[in-house]
Parts: sequence; C-alpha cells; structure tokens
Amino acid sequence: MSELMFENALRASRAYALFESDMRRGQGHTYMIVSPDDDAVESFFKLAGARIFCENGNACFACSECRRVLHKTHADVFELNAERTNLKVAQISALLSSVYVRSLSGKKVYFIQRADLMNDQSQNKLLKTIEEPPEDVTFFLGVANERSMLETVRSRSRKIYIEAFDADVIKREMLALGFDEERSAIAAAGSEGMLGKALKIAKSEDYARLYALALDVLTKLNRSSDVATLDLAIAGDKDKLEDFLDVLSIIVRDMILSKRDPELVASKHIAGKLSELADGFSERALGEIPMLINEARKKLKLNVNALATVDSLLFSILEVKFKWQK
Ligand SMILES: [Zn+2]
Repeated sequence: MSELMFENALRASRAYALFESDMRRGQGHTYMIVSPDDDAVESFFKLAGARIFCENGNACFACSECRRVLHKTHADVFELNAERTNLKVAQISALLSSVYVRSLSGKKVYFIQRADLMNDQSQNKLLKTIEEPPEDVTFFLGVANERSMLETVRSRSRKIYIEAFDADVIKREMLALGFDEERSAIAAAGSEGMLGKALKIAKSEDYARLYALALDVLTKLNRSSDVATLDLAIAGDKDKLEDFLDVLSIIVRDMILSKRDPELVASKHIAGKLSELADGFSERALGEIPMLINEARKKLKLNVNALATVDSLLFSILEVKFKWQK
C-alpha cells in the first residue's frame, strides 16, 4: 500500500500528466493547483514535490528524497498554511524571507495551501516574489476558488486543475485506506468526485446513525402531519444537519439507481430496503429531491433556522412525492 494518500488516483489524473509533461519541457516557477478538494491538493503537492526531488526522477516514494517530501522533513520544502486558514501578511513575509537563501539541494519548493484565503495585501506581498523568483524556487499555490486570486497572481501562474474523480476511482482509494467494501462504496457515492469528502464520510462515526435516521425519515414521511415529528428528530442535531443532508442525498441517489440499475446501488447490504422505499416514489419525484436538498444546504449557509429548513425540506419532498405519482 502506498503511503501517499490517494496516490493512484492522483498519479493517473490529467492534472499530474500535465505536470509531468511540464517537468520534461521545462518546469515553471509558480503553479496554481486548482480544486475544491483540499485533501487531494495536499497529496498532489507531495506527489509533485517528490517528482521534483526524486533520485529516480519518477516520485518513487522509496528513495530518501521522496520519503523526506512525504514526511515533511525535507530541508528544501517549505509549507505554509497547513491549517488552511486566512494567511496574514506577516506569515507571507516570514516565508518569503527564506526564498533568497540558497537551497541545499539546488532546488526549493514552497507549498501554500488554500492560497485563495489570502487577502489582497498578502497576495501582493507574494506577487513581488513570484514576479522575479530566484532560479531554484518553485511555488505551488493550492486554490479552491480561483476567483479569489488577484489577476496579477493568476497570470503569472501555470494553472493545473484537479478534475473530479470517478466514483470507482474514489472507491478504490477508500479500499486502499483500509475501509471495508460497503463503507468505501457509500463514501464514493457521497463524494461528489472529491477524495477528501469521501474520506470525511468514510471516517465519520456518526455516519451509520445519520444513515439510519435518513432511512427512517424517508420511510415514515407519508403525510403532512408526519413532518412535525420527523423534523424535530433531525433539527435537534443542528451541527450534524449538513452531514445529514449529504447522507440523504446518497440514499436518494441509491433509490434512483435501484430503479434503473440495481447493480450500481452503493449500499448493497440494504438493496432490498432501498428498492422497497423507492417503490413509493416515481423516478421523476426522486429526480427532484437532490435539488430540494441543495436548497436546504443553501439555507443553512445563510443561517436560516435549522428547524425551519428541515420543515420546508420535508414538506417539499412530500409535495414532489405526490405531485409526480406514478
Ligand atoms: Zn524517489
């Protein structure tokens, strides 16, 4: 098993192929690695860093240079913002003070996570360095939201987009991390193509509980008088509400799949139950539920009251269920 998380998925990605061809043609000085998948970006940094320093030239993760990059002990690899918070000008200055110090190995690499959380002042500070970088320095900027970057920084960076991963690729990565078949499949189904999100789902201890709750809600939701009892059960767990909505999406997707192609259902252990549940909804009704769940997510982000959000979600689900009866 590889020690670099998500190694196979990343090595096979278009993003890495692009970097690899860049390494052969002539490496740039500043890369923007663009993806909302922070964990994938972090692993991509290590893969790219290993590719730069590897004694065998292929990011083997067996040589001592690769090991140092992997374990964050390489003297010429600098990391900033591992906490993925708002970067202060002072932190950028501290980092940049090392830029003009000569490297030990002839190359230096800077990883900046969530560079899009830098304000304009911090970005401008960084800009001065990436405009005229020392020959031996390469910057990697992890960026979730490209629009938060100053045009001046963007235009001086080579952009590499990490694509959304296929569910089967994500499932294999979860299996490689030691999760069992079922948990890996469910995590992949709820991942929206993001390795980090899949990992969060796979690790979640609340997951089984939320899953049971979501199933229970869909089973018991038959008339409007049911809403009042069910919404209380969900909204009482306000912190977990977003996770609940994720789980609900996964179940609804499985219900749709159980109508179309039962082989593709993620939660195979309860395929019978899901199919029975899906019988109560038309495909058209199920098709509308993910949009309703997204609306609920948006409301939570806007700080709409949890109970009101759940309430309106459940009513809307009931509404589409009866509007699009078979
Ligand atoms: Zn190596």
